[in-house]
Amino acid sequence: MNIGLFGGTFDPIHRGHVALAHAALQRYKLGRIYFVPANIPPHKQKQPIAPFLHRYAMIALATAPEKAFVPSLLEAPEESGAATKKERPPKPNYTIETVRRLKQTFGKSDQLFLLIGIDAFADVAQWHQPEALFRECEFIVASRPGYSLADVANALPESLRPRPEATRPFQKQAATGDLVLRGATIHLLDQVCQPVSATAIRAAAAAGKPLARFLDASVAQYIKKVGLYK
Ligand code: ATP
Repeated sequence: MNIGLFGGTFDPIHRGHVALAHAALQRYKLGRIYFVPANIPPHKQKQPIAPFLHRYAMIALATAPEKAFVPSLLEAPEESGAATKKERPPKPNYTIETVRRLKQTFGKSDQLFLLIGIDAFADVAQWHQPEALFRECEFIVASRPGYSLADVANALPESLRPRPEATRPFQKQAATGDLVLRGATIHLLDQVCQPVSATAIRAAAAAGKPLARFLDASVAQYIKKVGLYK
C-alpha cells in the first residue's frame, strides 16, 4: 500500500492542509495518510504554539469525513515523571525519527510518501539528517506559482543537489511533474496550494473575525469553544 505521512504544527489544521492531502491521496493512490502534529516542531521552538492536545483534537475533527486520513500520535509528548522532566528538557520531533518509527510497522509492499508544502520543502536541507530522509521515502510536494523546478532541485541537501549547469535550464520551468535524482524522488503537485495559512487564522481568531472560509466548521467551533488564539 502507498502510505502518506503529513507532518506539521497544524496550529490549527486548515483547508490548505486538507486540500493537499486529498490531492495526494487521489493522485498517488495512497491507501492511508497519517496526519502527524509535532509536539515540538524543530523550526518553531521560539514561538508559542497551542498545546499538543488541542492541535491533535482539531486534526481529528477535520479528518473525520475521510476514512483514509488518520490522526497520529507518533510525535505526541512523551510521558515522563517529574524527576526525568527536570533532568532532560523535551526533545524536538525530527521527521527522520518519526519516519523510521512508522516504517517499523510497514509490511514488505508498503511504500512511504512524505507530504509537504513547497515553503517548508525550501528549508529541507537544514532538517536533521536530510539525506537519510530522502533515502527512506519519496516526497510529494505541493508547489506554488513562482517556484521553478530549479528551485526544487536547489533546495536539496548539498550531496543530492544537481550541479548548477544541470539545473540552469530549469530556472524558468514551473515546479510540476516528477523529479527523479540519484538519492531523491520528488513528486510535485501543482494547483493545490490554497491562499491560507495558520498564521492568518490565528490573527483572525485573535481579532474575533469569522474563520469559516479558512477551516472546517467543526474546527472553527472548537477554536471558539476552547477560546484558542485569543
Ligand atoms: P504557520 O502559518 O503557523 O507557519 P502553516 O499554515 O504553514 O503554519 P504548518 O502546520 O506549519 O502550517 O504546515 C504543515 C505543512 O503544510 C507544511 O508542509 C506546509 O508547507 C504545508 N502547508 C501549509 N499551508 C499550506 C497551504 N495553504 N497549502 C498547501 N500546503 C500548505
